Amino acid sequence: MSERLPCQTPGCQATILPATALRTGGICMPCHQRKLVLAEKAYIEQNRKEVNLYAGVEDPVEILKIMHQPRKYNPLIQEVSYPKTAQELYHQLTESGRERLETYAIALMEEEDWDQAEAILLSLVCFTDTRIGRGLEQLFRKGKYYPAILYKDAGAEIRDRLIELVECDPANRNHLLLALAWTYDEEVVRLFAKWRQSPPEWASELYQAPETYAHEAGWELDAGGGKRLLFHPECYHFKVHRDENKGASTAHTAVMALQTGTQSCPWCGSELTVLFDYDLQNSLVQFMQLPGRRLRIAACMHCNCYGTVFMKADLDGGYEWSEYNIVPDYLPDNEGELEEPVWHSMQLSEHPAGSYESAHWTLEAPASQIGGHPSWIQDADYPACPGCSETMKFVAQMDMEQAEDSEGIYYAFLCRDCLITAVNYQQT
Ligand SMILES: [Zn+2]
Ligand SMILES: [Zn+2]
Ligand SMILES: [Zn+2]
Repeated sequence: MSERLPCQTPGCQATILPATALRTGGICMPCHQRKLVLAEKAYIEQNRKEVNLYAGVEDPVEILKIMHQPRKYNPLIQEVSYPKTAQELYHQLTESGRERLETYAIALMEEEDWDQAEAILLSLVCFTDTRIGRGLEQLFRKGKYYPAILYKDAGAEIRDRLIELVECDPANRNHLLLALAWTYDEEVVRLFAKWRQSPPEWASELYQAPETYAHEAGWELDAGGGKRLLFHPECYHFKVHRDENKGASTAHTAVMALQTGTQSCPWCGSELTVLFDYDLQNSLVQFMQLPGRRLRIAACMHCNCYGTVFMKADLDGGYEWSEYNIVPDYLPDNEGELEEPVWHSMQLSEHPAGSYESAHWTLEAPASQIGGHPSWIQDADYPACPGCSETMKFVAQMDMEQAEDSEGIYYAFLCRDCLITAVNYQQT
């Protein structure tokens, strides 16, 4: 057996075989690996180039095309990011700009580049509320019926073709039902009501009744077979407030987010959080049509990750744990050692936003908002009111990526007849 030698790195206690020493210049393998990593890092730092793909490009359509292009990771290239987000650029587009992007997306589909085409069409629908007629024609030709939100307000011709297909295309039936729900078409509402009355033969092959697919598009059939919207079209976003000295405008106080509550959670003992604190007298929240002074929607930020939490509220700022709450099947055993969360200060913007800006969460638009369509990460999950069993209306959501650089979204609901609030949570 050959004699082992000490590693030459100062402070390293390892010994090595002479053969290793020959290969590494006298140091042990872990030291050798570390040296290689450091050398590569130094090389990248010295040779990395800044690349600005947007240099000299001023047309927002061209800027967006560049933004949507897939990137190959190259450590030697540091891309200069554009000072505006895609969402902001979409807001700036003129009608002809939107048309050009739709045309571009159609060309991408022709080349089977679905990811890029889909991101552009979704952005047009969600950020600019565009009805993408030509894009849908192309999707249809290619037999692609999702993401279903692309079919929002699709129009009579597309609607009729979807209705035809849903009867005879079992493989795509799930997607077709969702696409139908998103058309928001009165004919579809009547069809869903007809199916509720007498389910079609193929309904037994589905996991849920065909008319309940409407939840994914934010509506349901009411008792009379009409369309009942499950969210408020009016929408205002929260922004992370970084400038501590700036005075709060009236809009900022219409709804305060993430206030520490005055009661503790009976399940885990930690302080409840008032996720949303509405000043019902503020003109900005008049669309809620709630009389009274204040509405506080409270949650347990810990336990709420494992199930829906209901609260009895009044319109004077009061709230209490609801008798209807059922302990979730699983709750972690925290034994009073829960960390106090630290949140960014969130302020409501006074500028109304589109109802669907964050409706498709893969677009990664910041999603903290009151009103608007929820950003479901999983399937739509509107709780049934435990008091009257009506589906509860979505009223607000808090995006934890904005609020504390973590993940997941808390969704808040209200039954205005029973004055019961609910909060649930989803994450990837
Ligand atoms: Zn060593
Ligand atoms: Zn709790
Ligand atoms: Zn109720």
